[in-house]
Amino acid sequence: MTGWNMPPGCNVSDIPGQDEGPCAICCQPVIECVCPECPKCEAQGDPICYRKHGLKLNKRQMICRQRVILLHMTEMLLEQTRFLAQLVDSTEQTQWDLDDVDDPFE
Ligand SMILES: [Zn+2]
Ligand SMILES: [Zn+2]
Repeated sequence: MTGWNMPPGCNVSDIPGQDEGPCAICCQPVIECVCPECPKCEAQGDPICYRKHGLKLNKRQMICRQRVILLHMTEMLLEQTRFLAQLVDSTEQTQWDLDDVDDPFE
C-alpha cells in the first residue's frame, strides 16, 4: 500500500475492498488495532493465536473489549426502553406469540 494516502476523516470500511471490519480480538478498527504481534506467526489480532499459539489478552485489549461490550449493552438498553414505551403507547397489536418475544429469564 505504498504511495497511497488515506483521505482525512475517511474510515477504512468506506474504502471498497477494505471492509475487514473491527479486529476480532480488541474490537478496534483494524488500523487502530492494539493487539501485539504473535511471536509464532506474526499475525495481529487473530483468534487462532490466542487459542493455539499461547497468546494472552493484555489489559489494553481487555479495556477495548469491555468498552465495546458496554456500548452494545447501552444500545440494547435504549432499544428495550424504546420498545416498552412503544408497547405502553400502542393501541394496535395486543397479542403476541411466545416464541416471537424476548425471554425475560434469559
Ligand atoms: Zn486488535
Ligand atoms: Zn499466531
